[in-house]
Amino acid sequence: MTYDPNNIFAKILRGEIPCEKLYEDEHTLAFMDIMPQAEGHCLVIPKQASTGLLDADPACFAPLLATVQKLARAAKIAMKADGVTIMQFNGSAAGQTVFHLHVHIIPRKDGVPLKGHTGQMEQSALLKARADQIRAALSV
Ligand code: 5GP
Repeated sequence: MTYDPNNIFAKILRGEIPCEKLYEDEHTLAFMDIMPQAEGHCLVIPKQASTGLLDADPACFAPLLATVQKLARAAKIAMKADGVTIMQFNGSAAGQTVFHLHVHIIPRKDGVPLKGHTGQMEQSALLKARADQIRAALSV
């Protein structure tokens, strides 16, 4: 599969469509997932273009995972979660719907099941409120 530079995350990276941004550095961007599977569900993407993990330049993995750890820690604290599910899909057969490499960070609470992967769009005020909590946890 060839990389489509007009996929939704490429547009977010170029600032062509908005996102609830949580963190950005030279190599990565983190933002809220608009259809969260649990409170505080966020995504981390490398700035380098690849459709998924399989065609990515391995050089992007270290900065990507460093940002995933940073966000997972902050989201767990901010959402007062008991654990964090980290997910990453490759190909539509595996459940991937956006074809720019991304890692899901999903704070989990004991006994609360994960919502469906293609769920409902969250209210933007709620997304912003959770993003504010995660941004606050990132800055301590
Ligand atoms: P995938 O199914 O490819 O692993 O995950 C794509 C994720 O991107 C889904 O969880 C979906 O909710 C999220 N998503 C899709 N479109 C947008 C968008 O325009 N903005 C944001 N922030 N997330 C999106």
